[in-house]
Amino acid sequence: MERVYNFNAGPSAMPLDVLKEVQAEFLDFNHTGMSIVEISHRSAAYQDMQDDTIAVLKRLMHIPEGYHVIFMQGGGSMQFLMHGANFLKTRGGYLNTGVWSDKAMKAASYYGEVYEVASSKEDHFSYIPDESTFTVKDGTDYVYMTSNNTIHGTEWKTFPHVDVPLICDMSSDFLSRPVDVSQFDYIYAGVQKNVGPAGVVVGIIKDDMLQKARENLPAMLSYRTFVEHDSTYNTPPVFCIYFVNRVLHWIENQGGLQAIQKRNEKKAAIVYDAIDRSQGFYTGHATKDSRSLMNVTFNLGNADLEKEFVAAGARQNLIGIKGHRSLGGCRASIYNAVTEEACQALADFMDEFRKQH
Ligand SMILES: *Cc1c(COP(=O)(O)O)cnc(C)c1O
Repeated sequence: MERVYNFNAGPSAMPLDVLKEVQAEFLDFNHTGMSIVEISHRSAAYQDMQDDTIAVLKRLMHIPEGYHVIFMQGGGSMQFLMHGANFLKTRGGYLNTGVWSDKAMKAASYYGEVYEVASSKEDHFSYIPDESTFTVKDGTDYVYMTSNNTIHGTEWKTFPHVDVPLICDMSSDFLSRPVDVSQFDYIYAGVQKNVGPAGVVVGIIKDDMLQKARENLPAMLSYRTFVEHDSTYNTPPVFCIYFVNRVLHWIENQGGLQAIQKRNEKKAAIVYDAIDRSQGFYTGHATKDSRSLMNVTFNLGNADLEKEFVAAGARQNLIGIKGHRSLGGCRASIYNAVTEEACQALADFMDEFRKQH
């Protein structure tokens, strides 16, 4: 078996060590004589594992007192609706920096007024707006943002300070760098970009924020249900949470989020340098100061050449470098599990392809 260089945007590359560990213990989870997919979510073996997952996450992110960690299903898209159901009473402000925040704004509008606090839409979402351009209206329940824009390849380098609660979709750069959790009132992340298989969303919710959540919601739409029942009101996605557990331990063994960030910066520089030294053969989509460490987006001038680029890459085991259908061009997603070696292989290929064309 040959493993390829995987640049898929999500689901995406997972650490090889974790895949092997999961494989090795798949038939017998923690001496239960059963697979993790066979044990009861009401068993002590499961509960211990879930508790440990939360404990490791709290260590890694330095989550302060006064926050709860919850696990939900329905992906990021369900959160687009759920944050509105819980928190939108009068109006919600959105930092519209890409397709995902746009969708969140539309979904939440079912519950009240939504508006843009700032947007980079007019420039094809190629940059992160400056805080000085924000307008937050009176009576705003929260400001909502997307820390990393998976499709357009931009990322907030620092997080804005607003006078209302801050909600953040961290799906595509979750655990790629340290963040100050205390700046946020609600963080969520679908795990399938950086920390696990598709099927679970991690939520980190501040207790004060939970107090503000709308009452009288259907149980499965209410964050209270997940906090009050420790994410086991119904059957949680047992396998996904277990897999996330193993990835969290892997991150801890790598030296934690500071070490991961350093590595991600080095990896991203390898690929961005290949764009920058190409003298316009490759054009980056994001402005330089807004470049994502997770998703490198670029184009090659014309669609035929891009097609050839993607096909030639695939022949060298470079997989997943076609851009998102809504933006076109090319994209290399270089999440935590993508190695420096893979980034170097891509950069070498980009140099070679440029010389040939
Ligand atoms: C992929 C992605 C989503 C959508 O996640 P689904 O689980 O497919 O609904 C939402 N937000 C961001 C930032 C993403 O990258």
